[in-house]
Amino acid sequence: MEYEPVIGLEVHVQLLTRSKMFCSCRAEYQSADPNSLVCPVCLGMPGTLPVVNRRAVGHAIVTGLALDCDIATYTKFDRKNYLYPDLMKGYQISQYDAPVATGGRLEVDVGSGDRAYTRSVGVVRVHLEEDVAKLQHFRDTEDRSGQYSLVDVNRGGVPLMEIVSEPDLRSAEEARLYLTGLRSILRYLEVSTGNMEDGSFRCDANVSVRPRGSREYMSRVEVKNMNSFRAVHDALEYEIARQARVVGEGGTVVQETRGWVEERRATVSQRSKEYAHDYRYFPEPDIPPLVIEPAWVEELRRSLPELPEKRRGRFVKQYGLPAYDAALLTGARATADYFEECMSLGGSSAGPARAKTIANWVLVELAHLLGREGVGIQESRVTPAHMADLARLVESDAISGTLAKRVLEESFDTGELPSVVVRERGYLQISDSTAVESAVEEAVGAHPQAVADYVKGKETAARFIVGQVMKLTGGRAKPALVNDLVKRKLEMVRVANGS
Ligand code: ADP
Ligand code: MG
Ligand code: ZN
Repeated sequence: MEYEPVIGLEVHVQLLTRSKMFCSCRAEYQSADPNSLVCPVCLGMPGTLPVVNRRAVGHAIVTGLALDCDIATYTKFDRKNYLYPDLMKGYQISQYDAPVATGGRLEVDVGSGDRAYTRSVGVVRVHLEEDVAKLQHFRDTEDRSGQYSLVDVNRGGVPLMEIVSEPDLRSAEEARLYLTGLRSILRYLEVSTGNMEDGSFRCDANVSVRPRGSREYMSRVEVKNMNSFRAVHDALEYEIARQARVVGEGGTVVQETRGWVEERRATVSQRSKEYAHDYRYFPEPDIPPLVIEPAWVEELRRSLPELPEKRRGRFVKQYGLPAYDAALLTGARATADYFEECMSLGGSSAGPARAKTIANWVLVELAHLLGREGVGIQESRVTPAHMADLARLVESDAISGTLAKRVLEESFDTGELPSVVVRERGYLQISDSTAVESAVEEAVGAHPQAVADYVKGKETAARFIVGQVMKLTGGRAKPALVNDLVKRKLEMVRVANGS
């Protein structure tokens, strides 16, 4: 029996706001001293009153719009009750039956070439809630009295947005691509950093398996504790295989919550699944229902940036780029902006050839250099003006494409314009044939064996001589010219040898 995985994802995103969801404490808690960003509201003191953060609501609306959701006119907050030491009040303020946005969609492009297809994933809802405090567990294994936990409430009350998908995903890879696509959108909207490592973007994955061809939904497992896209993918693969095995052996999958344990590369049972009624949801009595003015929604709709999918399509059309390059360039807004600035600096002369060249430099050489220094593209010492300058040098034949990479690196290190680097280091391409000819003479004279091989019919020996000429000219000779002159010289020798 073959089994088909069914996957639905719940994503929690920390929103980029100055203050917390229901109080005026600062929301950037990552680098603050423990419990330094707290007040009676986020500490959950009785008698305090929460006040809704307008910017957080705006972020949820914008996200809903980008995901093609309907934006509610009437929303409200609800109390989700449970007891855990990370939750000061004993309840979390969340949204239950009147979320900000519902009924959306995200198209996910999967695979490439002949195998490419688009998976359309429904978005059930986008709602707002508050984050909980952070627990730190300390464990002295020798001594049980050495086991204790500390609570840092700085994170408590930070605005959180939950995005719930329909169970429309059919593989671990589709789930991974849905997440990277979603994160790219959130970053374009500037509503979240989307960083998974620091917990700004968290994913719970719901997964079940069913006999292929069946339309039924089987009982599912919720997998938690993955802190990278790779981990989500691997945890799902593991869980799909485990469930298929259980069902294949005639058993049934227990509906439960399991945690991914990276070191064991396995999911382990944590607890039985909780149901909505376990939380005793009821409307938050301290916050009046929230009416979202349609005029505000329209204003936000007009302010939406061009989103990655659309921008990708435009890059292919406008710049003549391959879809693959366009997808990589538009994955992050800053990279796409950088590329477009390079192109706009090229003026009317900037055609598809330049687009492809710039795309390669941005995606390969520059990306490598930025990665080495650990800086973002906005902080790059090689600016779009440097790139346009470099492109002009190559296009005017002043330097070869190979040398351009070295110039790019030197510009990156010094911040100097490529044309300055080329002038100061004497990198100008040698396209003067007398200069190249003398290098050819020298190379031929120094390698009689290679010449003899060529004369005997070993054509590849010519490539060796070409390499030697490039070496002698410090990589500056124009490659086409070198090829030409070497071939001509070797043919002359061959004829002179009478063969
Ligand atoms: P709960 O509130 O109990 O977590 P939801 O209905 O909100 O339940 O669903 C949570 C997630 O589980 C959603 O992303 C949904 O797509 C997914 N899901 C629901 N049923 C299944 C199933 N049978 N298999 C896999 N995922 C599922
Ligand atoms: Mg849920
Ligand atoms: Zn506070």
